[in-house]
Amino acid sequence: IPPVLAIIGRPNVGKSTLVNRILGRREAVVEDVPGVTRDRVSYQAEWNGRDFTVVDTGGWEHDAKGLHARVAEQAEIAADVADVILFVVDARVGATATDEAVVKMLRKKKKPVLLVANKIDDFNQESEAATLWGLGFGQPWPVSALHGRGAADLLDEAVSKM
Ligand code: GDP
Ligand code: MG
Repeated sequence: IPPVLAIIGRPNVGKSTLVNRILGRREAVVEDVPGVTRDRVSYQAEWNGRDFTVVDTGGWEHDAKGLHARVAEQAEIAADVADVILFVVDARVGATATDEAVVKMLRKKKKPVLLVANKIDDFNQESEAATLWGLGFGQPWPVSALHGRGAADLLDEAVSKM
């Protein structure tokens, strides 16, 4: 069975865009309106000659539980099946309360987590990624899922941890 790379994070941070970047094709559904991805969708992927499964997450609606709980719950299901987790944050927005809920859950897992500081589309925005050191997952990886910037370094690191 190939190892599993789970892509988690709150709606609209660019998870599905990153999945498409990893796949090298447009398969995961990217929307300006958050919440369109079905709960979990798996894809077969390959990087540096390593085969693995990418799990995209989403599909959370505001329900009685509220958004924080739904995001953390979906993220937990994906984290439990993952060998490596990419926790995606919108670096332009910074860490939100929903991100903190995911952080709490992830701290309890004994899984490798790479913190993806997404939407860093150019060098001038890189300082915004530095504030995410505070989440406690070590170095934030500055990435532009949209343009591909930083994605190769991130994936090199991710497959090295599988
Ligand atoms: P998801 O809900 O986390 O899966 O987010 P999506 O992948 O659907 O992306 C949400 C929105 O953010 C879309 O409009 C994307 O085009 C945009 N987006 C994703 N990645 C980037 C990025 O690296 N830079 C910028 N500027 N926009 C991005
Ligand atoms: Mg999505």
